[in-house]
Amino acid sequence: MEKIAVLYDAGQAVLSTFDLDEVLQRILAIARDYFHLQKVAILLFDKEAQQLCVRSQIGWDAGNDKMCLGYHEGLTGAAAFKKQPVYAPDVSQHPRYICTAQSTRSELAIPLMVRDEVVGVLDCQSDRLNHFDRVTIDLLTLFSTQASIALQNARLYSLERQRARQLEAINTIAQQSTAVMELEELLTRACAVIQQAFQVQHVSIFLREESDLVLRAHHGTLTPCIPPGERFPAGRDPWPHLLAASGSLIEKNLSSGPEHLRLFAEASSRMSIPLISFGQTLGVLTLHSSQPDAFRESELQPLESVADICANSIQNAHYVERVKQLAYLDGLTGIFNRRFFELRIVDEVERARRYGAGMAVVMADIDQFKKLNDEFGHLLGDEVLRQVSSLFHQNLRKIDVVCRYGGEEFALLLTQTSAQQAVTVAEKLRKLVEEWQFPGVPRTVTISAGVAVFPDHGVGRDELIRAADNALYCAKQTGRNRVCLNSRSRVAAAGG
Ligand code: GH3
Ligand code: MG
Ligand code: MG
Repeated sequence: MEKIAVLYDAGQAVLSTFDLDEVLQRILAIARDYFHLQKVAILLFDKEAQQLCVRSQIGWDAGNDKMCLGYHEGLTGAAAFKKQPVYAPDVSQHPRYICTAQSTRSELAIPLMVRDEVVGVLDCQSDRLNHFDRVTIDLLTLFSTQASIALQNARLYSLERQRARQLEAINTIAQQSTAVMELEELLTRACAVIQQAFQVQHVSIFLREESDLVLRAHHGTLTPCIPPGERFPAGRDPWPHLLAASGSLIEKNLSSGPEHLRLFAEASSRMSIPLISFGQTLGVLTLHSSQPDAFRESELQPLESVADICANSIQNAHYVERVKQLAYLDGLTGIFNRRFFELRIVDEVERARRYGAGMAVVMADIDQFKKLNDEFGHLLGDEVLRQVSSLFHQNLRKIDVVCRYGGEEFALLLTQTSAQQAVTVAEKLRKLVEEWQFPGVPRTVTISAGVAVFPDHGVGRDELIRAADNALYCAKQTGRNRVCLNSRSRVAAAGG
């Protein structure tokens, strides 16, 4: 009767839930209660580490409850190796016994088998000598077959769930990457999705730029040792292997590596997967863990699928960025065009408003350009436009914006710049042009410029452009080859 009851209960436990830990706890509780055991544990076999590790237990104190034993160690190891129950009626007499609890007097280890394969061990310990008789051993062995089926079911289910999560991640990334988006945003989102789906501590993406790799995005719980945008020579370990061999790499223990190669402070192991699109390695997807030896070969395949999708989206985003850039560049001079200027000035006005910083707009126009065209021809006129563009570009700060507004007129955006500073800058440019020897033009070329600043001369895009244009008109009216600051302050104008 007891025999049927214990098997029935074990069967019920198997069917009750797919949650592995819950199934194991239920099975252990049944074993403890029916067989009057003080301590009972299920150890799972970790194939790659060749170890049996406690996954679930009842009766041990905290601290002693997460043990791992070598595949051949202890009674559990012997049971796994022999694929048969191993019994020590008096543990003190058994040569293989490893003590994990002082009170234990007898121990029975039963391998958990699926087909011909050992998946774990059921370890039963009693405080009584010779606790297990023949009938109990047979019954526990029968009971253990139910347990191993439960175990395998739950494992398959959890693998299935993990696969489903990863497939979902692949889908999410694939979907998001088809939507046209900024590269930066795409990379950040990809890192976050991968981190969640694959339950890793830190995910980062490095992209190739010339002979360097640049950290472009990362997401997770580890502390970066490097600022975003940091460049690494692509020839530095471990990148050359990845980039050249185009194969993935698992590094089990990073702590022995040199300090200056450290990417994340707590990282102990790393998995790196090259991002390859159309045979070209665009960068590397890396996963970091604070645990040594945290990554498995078996995890590579789904991650390589994700990496493939990422690589293609990166390629697409590069392409979109290039096309976008072309739409904002002037074909003749290579500097930004009017369309770009009109977008950027809105952003810059907003920034100046938020941070209370100054911002200046300079409109510059080549003097008597029609005459220059007439005198020396249109082609030379084009060359003068290119050279003036280049002079402006080279003599302004990187954060300033130089645009060809139309014809022979240029619009400049000078961020964090006061009226006086802007006039000085415009004056510098005027002098540069005046003194520049344009090849094929045996006379002076000059420009006139008008300056307006936020918020004195305008608080919106159109108002500021108009104010700078008015100042330019004033420069032309008063004799050309000069810089004029808009003379009307907004406050004064509003006051009449
Ligand atoms: P001002 O000093 O008053 O500015 O006189 P201007 O002759 O420079 O001004 P106007 O607006 O009368 O003439 C501008 C000329 O610029 C007319 C046009 O042929 C020439 N132009 C506009 N775009 C281009 C271009 O892309 N290449 C060349 N070579 N000339 C251009
Ligand atoms: Mg002109
Ligand atoms: Mg003009």
